Amino acid sequence: MQRRIRMDRPVSRSSRDLVLTALRARGPMSRAELARHAGVAPSTVTGVVQDLMAAGLVVTSAHPRDRAQPGRPGLRLTLNPRLGAVAGVEFCFDRLRVLLCDLAHNVISTADCELPYAHSSQAALAAARKLVDEALAAARMPRDALIGAGVSVPGPVSRHPDEVKPSAILPGWHGVTGDDIAAVLGVAVSIDNDSNLAALGEHVWGAGRGCDDSVTLKFNYGIGCGLFANGALVRGVGGAGEIGHITVDERGPLCRCGKRGCLETYTAISAIMDALRPQHGRLMLPELMGLLSARDPGAVRVVGDAAELLGTHLAAVCNLLAPRRVIVIGPMAAAGELVLDPIRTAIRRHIAPNAVPQVLLGELGERNTALGAIALALDESDWLPRRRVRPGAPSRDPAEGSSQARTSAGGLA
Ligand SMILES: [Zn+2]
Repeated sequence: MQRRIRMDRPVSRSSRDLVLTALRARGPMSRAELARHAGVAPSTVTGVVQDLMAAGLVVTSAHPRDRAQPGRPGLRLTLNPRLGAVAGVEFCFDRLRVLLCDLAHNVISTADCELPYAHSSQAALAAARKLVDEALAAARMPRDALIGAGVSVPGPVSRHPDEVKPSAILPGWHGVTGDDIAAVLGVAVSIDNDSNLAALGEHVWGAGRGCDDSVTLKFNYGIGCGLFANGALVRGVGGAGEIGHITVDERGPLCRCGKRGCLETYTAISAIMDALRPQHGRLMLPELMGLLSARDPGAVRVVGDAAELLGTHLAAVCNLLAPRRVIVIGPMAAAGELVLDPIRTAIRRHIAPNAVPQVLLGELGERNTALGAIALALDESDWLPRRRVRPGAPSRDPAEGSSQARTSAGGLA
C-alpha cells in the first residue's frame, strides 16, 4: 500500500473533496483503493462516486491497462480527463522538456527545445511558456484547462516559499521564486530540484511504486540522489541528497561546486570520458555506450570502478536510512548489470547484513523528472472541480488519441 506523499494534509474536508483529491493525486483506482487513499469508508465512496459520475466529474477509465484483468475485477475510476491538464516542466543545463498530462494521468503531449548552456532564467522561462502553450495546442486543450505546473531545476531549491538557492552550479537562477515562474507560466507552480523529482516520478509511477523507503541515484554528468523515508521525500532545509558532493579526497580534482575531490569528480559521465580519453580520444555518450555493449575491457573497467565507488558511498546512505530499494536512473543506467552489479557488490561489502536493499533500474527513462514534476503539482494543487461536465460531450479517450502530438500513456502506470 502506498502512503500519501505529504503527511500534513488537512482532514476536515468533505468526503467528496477527499475522493476528488485522491483521484487527482493518485490517478485511476478501484473503489477499494479509492476508499483507502481518500480515507473514506467504502460505503461512503459508493455514494460519492455515484454523484460524481452523474455530474460527469468521475468516469471509468477508458485505457486498456485499466480494463478487467485476473485479480483486478472491473474498470478503475478516474477524474474525467477533459476536466483539465497539468504540465511538467524540466529545465536542464542545455535543454528544456515539457510534458502535459490530463487529469486521468495520461501524458497527452510533449514538447522540448535546446537552451544555451549558460542561459539566463528569463530566457529559459520565456521558452517554457512557449512550449507549454504549444503542448496545450497540440493536445487541443484551452489554456484555462491548465490547473498547475510542476517545475524541475538542476540545482538546490528551498520549499515553502519555493526559491532557487544560491549555488555555483546554477548561477543564472539564483533567487528565482515559485511566484516568478508562476507569473511567466500563468498558472500555479510547485518547484523542486531534478533529483528529488526524478525520485518522486519513480515513487509514484515507476520502480519505487509501493515502496515507502527508497534511494534513487542519478548516474549522469552530475551525480544526484533522491531520498524517500516513511513515504515522504527527504528535503532537509533544501539540498538533501547531494551524494555527488560528498568529499572523497579533499586534494582531488576541482568540482563544479567549488570544492575539491567530490564523489562526482570521480564517477560522473564526464570523469568516465576523461579516464577513457588516452585510449579512445574524445567520446560522446553513444560511443561510450557502444564500447560497453561491445564489452571493451577499458570501458567496462572504468565504468565498473565508478559504479563501485558510488556503491561504497550509497552503502553509507543505506546504513543511515535503511531503504528497501536503491533505484539507479540516468544515462548510465542503460549499461544495466555493468553498473548494477558493482553497486550491489559494494553495498553488500559495506552494509549491515540484515539491511541489504534491492538494487534495480528505474522504469521511466528520461521522462522521470518531468513526470515527477507532474506528480508534485498534482499532489500540491488545491484544485477541485466545481462544475458539472456537459452531458453527452464526448470523453477524451487516451487510448484512441487523434492528436499527432499526443502520446500513449508512456511511463504512467
Ligand atoms: Zn562538488
